[in-house]
Amino acid sequence: MICIPITASSNKEALHDIEHSCLTAGAIEIRMDLIVDGSLSALIAAARRNSRKVEIIVTCRKKAEAAQMDAADGSEKESEDQKNKKMAILKQAVDLGADFIDIELSEGADAIQELKSYCEKGDGSVKKGDGSKKLIISCHDFKRTPGLARLKELFHQCRKYDPGIVKIVTFAHKPEDNLRMMSLIPYAQKHKQEIIALCMGEKGRISRVMAPYLGNYLTFAALGRDAQSAPGQLTAAEMKQINILLNGDGQQQMPALSTGQDRQLKNYILLGNPVGHSLSPLMHNTALHALGQEGRYNAFCVYDPAAALQAIRGMDIRGASVTIPFKSAVMEYLDNISEDALQIGAVNTIVNKNGYLTGANTDWLGIIVTLREAMTIKGKNFVIIGAGGTARAAAYGIVREGGFPVIVNRTVENGKRLAVEFDCPFYSLDEIDKINADCLINTTPVGMYPRIDQSPVDSGLLTGYKYVMDVIYNPLETRLLKEAGLRGCRVLTGLDMFVHQGAEQIKLWTGREPDRALMKKVVKERLTSGE
Ligand code: NAP
Repeated sequence: MICIPITASSNKEALHDIEHSCLTAGAIEIRMDLIVDGSLSALIAAARRNSRKVEIIVTCRKKAEAAQMDAADGSEKESEDQKNKKMAILKQAVDLGADFIDIELSEGADAIQELKSYCEKGDGSVKKGDGSKKLIISCHDFKRTPGLARLKELFHQCRKYDPGIVKIVTFAHKPEDNLRMMSLIPYAQKHKQEIIALCMGEKGRISRVMAPYLGNYLTFAALGRDAQSAPGQLTAAEMKQINILLNGDGQQQMPALSTGQDRQLKNYILLGNPVGHSLSPLMHNTALHALGQEGRYNAFCVYDPAAALQAIRGMDIRGASVTIPFKSAVMEYLDNISEDALQIGAVNTIVNKNGYLTGANTDWLGIIVTLREAMTIKGKNFVIIGAGGTARAAAYGIVREGGFPVIVNRTVENGKRLAVEFDCPFYSLDEIDKINADCLINTTPVGMYPRIDQSPVDSGLLTGYKYVMDVIYNPLETRLLKEAGLRGCRVLTGLDMFVHQGAEQIKLWTGREPDRALMKKVVKERLTSGE
């Protein structure tokens, strides 16, 4: 649910903003600390007139929090008069039937208890003992996102008043801060507590988009660019646009809000750096949607793999893809590693079973399934150009299937090291013409976009091969494959490898076979559309 904060400085403007907000939002938050001459009765009446369904939150922030200073520790001193005025506004909100009254944790136990008791007396609409359910106990940190232990401590400090909603909003400096913050959502669900857990700032935007999918009670969005109530807030129009993009056909709304219990989320993420141009979200979301899976696959650009994995444990993330440069680095933080991944020395897939993380490798399967579709591997000779992670996956798979790899690499020592490990021959690049093999596989980035005019080998050499495979999928047809095709070789593409390694990931996460043809189609369409 999207909640629009009403931050106008006058009652007149606030009435105008409420009218517009009620048309698009599920909730509004009336910021009485900002609306100087605000008449709460007029504002609530206007909201009710415009929408019977809109949820109304009333709050009156401390000056320091409103000015985005660090007041989460309650260090700011307010006069008794200011405190009394604020309490009077919040009590009036109760009398006027606001759905939620937001009071800051830093107001202290006495103020919170006073408001809680008032809710119970109120107009009699709240059952005795349920007064606190109208309360949102909130804390804001405009400087940082604390560690998980501190976030959980804040959660419990808010929760001890038995509020309807706990709200924790902090400033994100790193993308990982979002993961830590969002890990509070399943934590709150475990405690049967509704929560609003969000990060502020440019780097916190992903939490504003993702949190409702994970079970956050709501996310905030501004009515317009000049009406943000916190840094990094997107506009309601932007949020809706993102929602449409995430939901594919533009018809669906954000999923119904969780009640905090029994929600079987199945979210997946890609961890890497960079991830901006990755086609994995498109491919995986298409496949997961076609399988009728709830939840989404999103890319996260991370800097600290240890923090990212810690967050996966705490959050309801069922699986992750791992890409450059973390395929080896994540291994030390996992609970278990499959035999394949151990031998390859790289993990590209993580499966999360209730916080127990297992690493696997599906890159080798991506290569092997692609090869199997075209040929019998057993007994055949394969030239592998390259000695990096993908070359290792290829050598491992070929040996496992009974084939014979030959390593060819630019840097001799890297190539020799790999050859020794897999007990196979090594040749330098300028000796490649001496090798007789059935299939040549390029595992280097040579020929990849934007350097599409490059090829790792002279075209004259290709005549000797029946099969030529390139692991690069952008462009779909590399110069190597183009030249191999012209010389009568059967070509095998990096797109097929990409689809098969992704499909094998989905099998590990869901136990189900995805529609590989559909996955290939969407990626191919995207690559040929030039977007
Ligand atoms: P990596 O670990 O960095 O290894 C790259 C290898 O390529 C190294 O052996 C390196 O040789 C060699 N190389 C790099 N530039 C070269 C050049 N200009 N001339 C000759 N050799 C060169 O990389 P990786 O993780 O294996 O990835 C390699 C490629 O596979 C990337 O293009 C990646 O996008 C692709 N890939 C595709 C899929 C898929 O699903 N289709 C999946 C994974 C990876 P040195 O030892 O001399 O440095």
